[in-house]
Amino acid sequence: MRKKKIVIIPKAIITANDKDDVLRNYAVEIENGKIINIFERDNVKLKNYDGMIFSYPNHILIPGFVQTHTHLCQTLFRGLADDLELLDWLTKKIFPYENSHTKESLRLSARLGLCELQTSGTTTILDMGTINHQESVFEELNRFKMRAIAGKCMVDKNDLYLPFKQTTNDCLRETKELAESYHNSNNGKIKYGFAPRFVLSCTEYLLKETKEIMKDFDGSVYHTHSSENKNEILEVKKMYGMENVEFLNSLGILSNNTVLAHCIHLSDKEKELLKNTNTKVAHCPSSNLKLGSGIAEIPNYIKEGISVSIGADGAPCNNNLSMLTEMRLAALIQKPIFGPTAMDAKTVFRLATIEGAKALNLENEIGSIEVGKKADLVLMDMDKVEMSVSESDESLYSNIVYSSSKNNISEVMIEGDWVVSKGKSLLTDELELVIKAKEELKKLLKRTTVN
Ligand SMILES: [Zn+2]
Repeated sequence: MRKKKIVIIPKAIITANDKDDVLRNYAVEIENGKIINIFERDNVKLKNYDGMIFSYPNHILIPGFVQTHTHLCQTLFRGLADDLELLDWLTKKIFPYENSHTKESLRLSARLGLCELQTSGTTTILDMGTINHQESVFEELNRFKMRAIAGKCMVDKNDLYLPFKQTTNDCLRETKELAESYHNSNNGKIKYGFAPRFVLSCTEYLLKETKEIMKDFDGSVYHTHSSENKNEILEVKKMYGMENVEFLNSLGILSNNTVLAHCIHLSDKEKELLKNTNTKVAHCPSSNLKLGSGIAEIPNYIKEGISVSIGADGAPCNNNLSMLTEMRLAALIQKPIFGPTAMDAKTVFRLATIEGAKALNLENEIGSIEVGKKADLVLMDMDKVEMSVSESDESLYSNIVYSSSKNNISEVMIEGDWVVSKGKSLLTDELELVIKAKEELKKLLKRTTVN
């Protein structure tokens, strides 16, 4: 069914195109989920327009945020795994909780996460699931009309928490079946993300074989964690005599369609490998601070030409999923190290939009407001007392990165479909969702033993 043409007329458009154009007095025309025209506002033309007109004189229009590392399966566990370091956090809390998921608890977890992500302006995610019931995540992604690259996580060895693993064969077979069912589903909005959890929980065979399987799924992504925690790195070194990224390289895993979450502690050689293979780094500033993992030298990575984008990671290590919080932190945490001019607002805004799209090889479809791209768009209401009242270009970026919160997110559209209006989800009743999620969590806690 063809969708009716619409025009959105905001106060300003922050395009995130190659020239970082900020357009004032312009309108964006959308048809069939795509941006078909961006034109200077012309009242005569608009008077006779044959589609619908949405006028937002107080709002700015930005591309939807792209998060390159999330775990929808963990949203239900927010506030249940605080103040721990990574390996304890996983062993004592997260693995046992994930292991207790049923289809229904995973569904509610995904629903909570998607509702929060969309109402804070995120329209695309690279998501790592848990080991069982991944269909629930895909069903919720469809229900929320989300753009996503997602997949079950693969764990075929686990010395940290024995019950949370599958046989190598089951990992690979289920992954392949899921990829066959869901890759390029929902009109291409969903792609498969092959997701071995991390080196410590995967056999060498699994890591390599996954790369082989994904060759049959064009546009898919290899998504794993790497070099997040110093103890993790020591363990990898003990096992394989190499640094984490070096080891992944020795297996042929680094490539243009590989996204590594975290990459906090890297040797010069590893940085060189990432750059030369165009492997993508998903930077997760809140999670890295909260788990005490460290601060990745992002300004150096960018200077050296390594692809960097941003993700909130899971709710229990953040504890929120808003890109606005991540952008603010991504800028602030570098300043005591690299000085106040490092990670300026415009650079960080690009990491959250077009650089995220590039990391997923979707830059021809999303990540900026340009003719021919999908209409994944966010309207932010900036006429609030906590915002700068200056309307210079610099202040617009500054408002987004340093001052704004979820309260400024007003309308959100994915491929031409409105999914959030006046800050509220159009796809679920938020209060009802919270009540149902509480019930599911109670049941899950009853069947889980944590230390
Ligand atoms: Zn993660």
